[in-house]
Amino acid sequence: MISSQTCPICKKELSANTTMLSPLFPFCSKRCKQVDLLRWDNEEYAVVDPISPENMTEEMAEQFEEEIQKKIDRMEEGSF
Ligand SMILES: [Zn+2]
Repeated sequence: MISSQTCPICKKELSANTTMLSPLFPFCSKRCKQVDLLRWDNEEYAVVDPISPENMTEEMAEQFEEEIQKKIDRMEEGSF
């Protein structure tokens, strides 16, 4: 029996098909993964309220997704 893993963001138990092989691991969802990325990025976003999956709207998620993608691109460029 594998001990259940919980999402570090929302503390929800990960479903059985969210394994280490999942691109989302250790998060339960894409949104939680985004929330985690954004938490590392608080200075830039000057977030007043802590972002949680509950208060993150679809619109925000889309917007952040773009920002995160840009950031990832930049990180990849800078890593060489
Ligand atoms: Zn989660």
